[in-house]
Amino acid sequence: MNRQFLIKSRPIGMVKETDFEYREIPVPQAGPGEVLVKTEHISIDPSMRGQMENRGDYVAPLAVGDVMRANGVGRIVESNHSEFKVGTLVLGAFGMQDYAVSDGQSVPMRVFPEGVDPLAALSVYGGTGMTAYFGMLEVGEPKAGDTVVVSGAAGATGSIAGQIARINDCRVIGLAGSDDKCEFLKELGFAGVINYKKDDIESKLDQYCPEGIDVYFDNVGGQILDFCLARLAMNARIVLCGGISRYNAEGPVPGPVNYFNLIFRRARMEGFIVIDYASRFPEATAKLKRWVDQGQIKYRVHEVMGFESLPKALIGMFHGENTGKTVVTC
Ligand code: NAP
Repeated sequence: MNRQFLIKSRPIGMVKETDFEYREIPVPQAGPGEVLVKTEHISIDPSMRGQMENRGDYVAPLAVGDVMRANGVGRIVESNHSEFKVGTLVLGAFGMQDYAVSDGQSVPMRVFPEGVDPLAALSVYGGTGMTAYFGMLEVGEPKAGDTVVVSGAAGATGSIAGQIARINDCRVIGLAGSDDKCEFLKELGFAGVINYKKDDIESKLDQYCPEGIDVYFDNVGGQILDFCLARLAMNARIVLCGGISRYNAEGPVPGPVNYFNLIFRRARMEGFIVIDYASRFPEATAKLKRWVDQGQIKYRVHEVMGFESLPKALIGMFHGENTGKTVVTC
């Protein structure tokens, strides 16, 4: 049987399990020039919430009744394609389902680098690793001695982005939603940590950033973005990576109040989408691999077991259940 999760309804407010429909259909067969992939691990990403609602103009629309889009790692179990052999591990947009058919293009997929752990391929060498790499280095442009603040710092993207800044000789301050996550950030070499659910965020930012913030890597938006805007150093860079605090909002969300400080501090606030850097992913993967091998970058995977857990894992991420990258193992 091919188990699938489909979009049952467009979420309103917090995404719910009832927004998904579970079904079982017969396993499809690979046609001429096609392969059949058995999904083993599925990546859970905050952007799924927007895609269910059809928000975001950088991906193809999804209709109610479609299989939910998801990236994953799978193994080729049937092949009528000369380039793809049975048994090969592949990375691709196979969706929330056990089996997917592809000719290599219809569902874009690439062969898995030899010897790489599948969970690493979905995390530090996957979309979130690429996001951290290009967002921090290309948009944030960290310089030695900079004070860099990262929100969502214990998550998949934030934890890697912060370490990249640290490797570039910056003092890195991280915000995360629990004391355990803050401990994890200290292990990664963050110079200051803020439990944004418990601490007085503003006074902690003042304490850790007495000369202001040179780079703010924003994963959350909302009030934390505003607090950082108020504390920019001259020529600061704000990397708009994401704004998870607004993803489950029911209505319009107010914009930042302190944006005018961008003028006074001659600062730059810039958004980016990681897929624009796709042609450079091999370069980033090689660099990240070197840092991981040297022990300079550590990564953690929040592995949720069981295909049936897919909707729960997405909802859990919005409640901060993960440290590091969320992956469902089918
Ligand atoms: P993640 O950080 O691994 O997981 C999300 C984390 O966000 C949760 O663990 C939770 O941690 C925190 N969070 C949830 N609700 C929050 C809220 N209301 N306010 C503040 N924090 C909240 O997820 P990820 O995949 O690495 O994504 C991180 C960000 O990067 C997201 O905004 C995502 O959309 C963005 N992103 C952007 C691109 C791009 O191309 N621009 C690509 C990938 C991802 P706490 O316990 O700390 O609250």
